[in-house]
Amino acid sequence: MRLVHSFAQELTALGSEVKPIKLVNSRLAVFNHNLAAELNLPFEWQLEADLFKALYADNGVLNKCTVAQKYGGHQFGHWNPELGDGRGLLLAEVIDEQNQPWDLHLKGAGPTPYSRFADGRAVLRSTIREYLASEALHYLGIPTSRALCLITSDEPVYREKQEQAAKMIRVCQSHLRFGHFEYFYHSKQPQKLQNLFDYCFKYHFKECTKADSPYLAMLEKIVHDTAKLIAKWQAFGFNHGVMNTDNMSIHGITFDYGPYAFLDDFEPTFICNHSDPQGRYSFDSQPGVGLWNLNALAQAFTPYLEIEQIKQALSNYEPTLLKEYSRLMHNKLGLLPGSSNGEANTHIINTWLDILAVEKKDYSATFRQLSQFDIFSDNQSLRDQFINRERFDEWAKHYTLALMEQGISQTLRQAKMRRHNPHILLRNYLTQQVIDRAEEGNFDMFHQFIAALKKPYEEIEEYQKFSAPPPDWGKQLEISCSS
Ligand code: AMP
Ligand code: MG
Ligand code: MG
Repeated sequence: MRLVHSFAQELTALGSEVKPIKLVNSRLAVFNHNLAAELNLPFEWQLEADLFKALYADNGVLNKCTVAQKYGGHQFGHWNPELGDGRGLLLAEVIDEQNQPWDLHLKGAGPTPYSRFADGRAVLRSTIREYLASEALHYLGIPTSRALCLITSDEPVYREKQEQAAKMIRVCQSHLRFGHFEYFYHSKQPQKLQNLFDYCFKYHFKECTKADSPYLAMLEKIVHDTAKLIAKWQAFGFNHGVMNTDNMSIHGITFDYGPYAFLDDFEPTFICNHSDPQGRYSFDSQPGVGLWNLNALAQAFTPYLEIEQIKQALSNYEPTLLKEYSRLMHNKLGLLPGSSNGEANTHIINTWLDILAVEKKDYSATFRQLSQFDIFSDNQSLRDQFINRERFDEWAKHYTLALMEQGISQTLRQAKMRRHNPHILLRNYLTQQVIDRAEEGNFDMFHQFIAALKKPYEEIEEYQKFSAPPPDWGKQLEISCSS
């Protein structure tokens, strides 16, 4: 394993050196062995004493060059130049076998110059939520930051009530956000903006330097990756909840988990964030917000690109997103993406979604049931789920016809649909049960849920309890930003 500190050393003016604080009675509660193996991390880090030595000892390898990054962001549409890592520190970058760097970032590390009025802490509840979500999305094939480990403590933290302080180490390509670029552009620091771009071309967008315009290529890549990411959120029913531009990764990965939710009932206007009554970041607003955010990022490219070039790059967003979404939805319904029956298939997909929405059916569970759809039967048990059976019958007729006309084999289709419609889903009511137990020091359910989320498409007896849609009480959980 090779550890470097390229951000800390090459972009000294873009952050502040800060050391992590130790919490009362810190202990290593969870360690992600798979991820550690992927990154070739030292085996000893799985041992609390060694990890803590690396993190907290004066000469510890993770404690040498720790920085809080400065950035800004558009929060709910308003520019805020006062942001930065308020409780997170970049520890180091690990270089993998392909020579790619991966950030190790400690969240809940203590106060930094960018903490403003807040305490620099993270609570156990929110670190568990982030850990579970990043594993869940990863194993569904949705790009995301990862969680390496979770550290608990007996240190009290005050939110809406008293909670326990915790920390986690997050891993991703880099922690560079749209808000980094926006900040150095809007605060009129062109040299620092230039340094940031140079750094990106050197470490993260090397390919772009071969293009006629590296800046255009970089913007196009971010537009493309963001569009594909948000298409995946929409297809899997994931609501991020706080799509401020400081929470948007330039790598097109899901980043900064807050009050997120996977949809239970299919309500297109669902708002997972209790602090967003207007629904700026509601489920069906996400594609539009993605473009809004890219427009905000594109401002920072104006010193390097003509307006026409920027418009051209942004114009790829919608078609890229729609194409990816359509591909994923075809797979979910067992239809053939890119077939000559495009229009008929789109109609079948949209009508199915409309039926789910009108009848407020559980999004993922109903799709999973649809993977049993039998063109030779009346699909009684599925049909019985709907109040408007005539509408279901009408739709089923079209669907059957399309499957027959397109010569799609029934068994292959059913198997394929089971690989595209998860049986196990990270649902808030289950997460809450995991949190309640963990707050009492019991991580058994946490580990079981993680094991289940690693095989989201399989029906394993032991994990059945993680496949059920929520009971009514479980649909009304309110999750706010306070984490
Ligand atoms: P978030 O809502 O998590 O995206 O955070 C928005 C901003 O608030 C970022 O600059 C964070 O670093 C900062 N922040 C969030 N929670 C805390 C905290 N407990 N202490 C210090 N800063 C925080
Ligand atoms: Mg954030
Ligand atoms: Mg956050």
